[in-house]
Parts: sequence; C-alpha cells; structure tokens
Amino acid sequence: MIANYHTHTFRCGHSGDYRDEDFVLAAMEGGLKILGFSDHTPWPYAGDFRHPSVRMDVEVFPEYLASVRKLQERYKEKIKIYVGLECEYFPDYMPWLEHSREQLDYLILGNHWGLSDEHGELYYSKATQPKDVDDYFRYTIEGMQTKLFAYVAHPDHVMSNYPKFDRHCIDGSYALCRKAKELGIPLEYNLLGFEKKEQGKQKGIGFPYPGFWEIAKEIGCVAIIGCDAHHPYQLRNSESAYKTEKFLNKLGIELMDMLPNMEM
Ligand SMILES: [Zn+2]
Ligand SMILES: [Zn+2]
Repeated sequence: MIANYHTHTFRCGHSGDYRDEDFVLAAMEGGLKILGFSDHTPWPYAGDFRHPSVRMDVEVFPEYLASVRKLQERYKEKIKIYVGLECEYFPDYMPWLEHSREQLDYLILGNHWGLSDEHGELYYSKATQPKDVDDYFRYTIEGMQTKLFAYVAHPDHVMSNYPKFDRHCIDGSYALCRKAKELGIPLEYNLLGFEKKEQGKQKGIGFPYPGFWEIAKEIGCVAIIGCDAHHPYQLRNSESAYKTEKFLNKLGIELMDMLPNMEM
C-alpha cells in the first residue's frame, strides 16, 4: 500500500504518547507516499460532557490542525500529508462539522455510537442484539447520505462482538453496500480490526467479516485499506497489509489506493 488516510494522534486519549511527527517518519519508513491524519473528531457538546479517552476536546482542534499543517509543509518534498477527522454521524453536531470541514482536507465516517455518545449509548464494538445491528446500519447510511465523507471506515465494525452473520447483518450489509455504490463512496477494509481479530481480541464473528466483503464485491463496491493507526509502527507495511491485499485481490473487489483529489 502507498496511501493511508486513517491515522490517529495522542489527542484522542487512547493512542500512545507519540508526536505527530513520529507517524510521519514511520509512514516514510514504511514506504507510504500519502499519509492522512484522521483523529477522532471533537464534538461541541451542548453540556459539560467530555470523552477524554475517545476524542480531543473541541478546544484542542485548532492545535491539531496547526500541528499537521506544519508537518505537511515541512515534509512536502518527501510525503504528501493530509489533515482530516474520523467522525460519527451525530445529527445535532452536523452544522459544526460542515463548518469545520472547510478547514480540513477530508472526513471519514466511523460509526462507533448511535446518534450521540452523551447519554450512555451503546459502543458498537459491544453490540450483541439484532436491534443494535439494524440501528448501526441505518445510522451509517444516514451519515453517508450527508455526502460529507470521503469513505466509510470499518463499515462492518458492528460485527466485532456480534454472535452470527444473521439476517440483520446480511440485510444491513446489502443496504450499506448499495448506498456506497449509489453514492460512489469507497469502503474501508480496516487493518486494526484485522489484527485484533487475528489476535483473538474480538468476541463475536469479528470484523473485517468475509461475508460483508463478499456482498460488497457482489454489489460492485470499491475497497480501500485503512491502517486505523494509533501507533506509528502500524504504518509500516505489515504482514497484515500483505494478507489483506491478497484477500481482496482474490475476492476480485476493486481496490482503491488513493482517494480522488487526494493523490500524490
Ligand atoms: Zn473508528
Ligand atoms: Zn480510527
């Protein structure tokens, strides 16, 4: 792989204590030509709610932007750097996101909670009920329809802890893939999920789930590999990236390396 648009930073509170520059150096060392930073979006919560182990506070956002822009300039002869965010679809805060989008190069849609995370909503890595799966796909599709997002991160994330690929997973997968095809939105094959699954850290059928990707291929979707890097070493071309490319090529799905307008 030569491009990765899914990279976090220390600001989200669950990455290591690395500098942004450490990710740039590791990406170059790993042979990447394009590095996109997409840290977990802050949200301008209406109340006092904070999520210190998930996302930066909204006050930190300008510093994040400035830091990545500085690296973009410093390394421009060596690697193409983009600055973005990984965002849920939280309808209350979409006006803020639309406004903030103007300062960024791109956004990716990563659905981790339902329509908010302020009121004890379920974290989709823990989903076990059919209703959770239905909601996950419905909200992800609603997010895609905003047309704010360059791609859908880990579209099959809800299967992490879910016990089987039942009718809810199948119907949801078809609906999401059809919408991706209709809107021309690539779907991310998530390397972090792949590694966690290989390490037995997902309790359900896990993601990336082959059945989902077979549906994506059948519908004619385009795949893109995302490192979902929380540590610089995840940006080196890894054994998992190699295995993933092999799987996707064998499946015969179209695999995109670079996002349109975000090439080298
Ligand atoms: Zn995510
Ligand atoms: Zn992520």
